[in-house]
Amino acid sequence: SLSERLDSAFKQLKGEGRISEINVASTVKEIRRALVDADVNYKIAKEFTDKVKDKAQGEKVLTSISPGQLMVKIVKDELAELMGGTEAEFDIKNNPTIVLIAGLQGSGKTTFSGKLANYLKTKKNKKPLLVAADIYRPAAIDQLKVLGEQIGVEVYSEPDNKNAVQIAENALKHAKSNGNNVIIIDTAGRLAVDEAMMTEVANVKAAVKPHEILFVVDSMTGQDAVNTAKAFNDRLDFSGVVLTKLDGDTRGGAALTIKYTVEKPIKFVSMGEKLDTLDVFYPERMAQRILGMGDITTLVERAQAQFDEEQAKKLEKKIRQNQFDFDDFREQLQQIKKMGNLKDLMGMIPGVGKAIKDIDISDDAFKGIEAMINSMTPEERGNPDVIDGSRRKRIAAGSGKNIQDVNQFMKQFEQMRQMMKMMNKFGAGGKGLKGMM
Ligand code: GDP
Ligand code: MG
Repeated sequence: SLSERLDSAFKQLKGEGRISEINVASTVKEIRRALVDADVNYKIAKEFTDKVKDKAQGEKVLTSISPGQLMVKIVKDELAELMGGTEAEFDIKNNPTIVLIAGLQGSGKTTFSGKLANYLKTKKNKKPLLVAADIYRPAAIDQLKVLGEQIGVEVYSEPDNKNAVQIAENALKHAKSNGNNVIIIDTAGRLAVDEAMMTEVANVKAAVKPHEILFVVDSMTGQDAVNTAKAFNDRLDFSGVVLTKLDGDTRGGAALTIKYTVEKPIKFVSMGEKLDTLDVFYPERMAQRILGMGDITTLVERAQAQFDEEQAKKLEKKIRQNQFDFDDFREQLQQIKKMGNLKDLMGMIPGVGKAIKDIDISDDAFKGIEAMINSMTPEERGNPDVIDGSRRKRIAAGSGKNIQDVNQFMKQFEQMRQMMKMMNKFGAGGKGLKGMM
């Protein structure tokens, strides 16, 4: 993978006091090869590495960091710069703001439309309207309706109308009388770029004059993604790119090359099938991800978004009074599960993503622990100290675990409580999960 290649390239720099021409040349060659392998166009990779080379040469290595670390920083900064530097603006000032969604079939347009509506509703306090303008597949309307129901956002559709332009225009009228301040038009896609599709989307654009046109692209399609982006941009002159499916085996190359080729900012990244897994695109974070440095910032934000303030306060109080019990523990587990797929989450921790790439971590990872907690009586959950040997045996039998599992779990739980007690004593803690992050 790209990050593995870079890892080994950086290792070559170990032990040198200053980044010299010789060691930079071989490292740079390695970086270039790695980028090309990750579907970055050769010309772009070369231009990029030439820049890095210029920057790196002669840089004095401070005693506190290794040449490898310095090189990583230079590469990371340049990567972030190439992808736009800072995050791009998403313009929702107009009332109503009209957003047109375009892209190939299967790229994730409909899913993204739902995520965007959810984001605007929950984070930006908007009243969005979703418009089903995919007139070719009846299932497409149902798909959007299901998403709309899940997030409590209205979906406008005309199942019998086969004219996408008319539907979009009617939706605008409907939005006006209905008080919607953002209109998200989900259009039809084809498996490959085709003239009829382009004409249709271009006609919708001409009719509704959108403020934002987002081109949705599957980040796993590699070099093809770039060609598609070009074709769509030539025709639609879109305002931003949405990279979907970044939760899979990430090919960072697409983000890089698309930005460079069409000179349009990447505005959002989509990482999973849950409706709250939409993130604003931060070049710096993406650069870190490409370099295998993980994405802790996004992880923490997810945690904060899911964390219930009320519950946190309650928990804080219980921890402060040394009353943390199995009911609280189970609640914590449920909070973590709400944050999304466990493997995706772990992948955001620096260094972990690579290590667990081939390991099957299902969302069932907590199942054993939950089964044990569920096999306890309410009394045992609320007062863990009563759990003696015979109770442990019963819990093991009830949860389908063996007695060693229960013993080990009890021991870990006890250690956790001891740690909380200690934090209380020294006045440091008591903030629960959120405080620990
Ligand atoms: P459309 O044809 O462009 O509207 O694409 P859809 O929104 O219907 O998505 C196609 C498939 O990709 C569906 O099975 C989605 O669940 C899935 N999908 C969409 N976005 C993501 C994502 O960010 N991650 C993953 N893993 N799957 C996604
Ligand atoms: Mg669709």
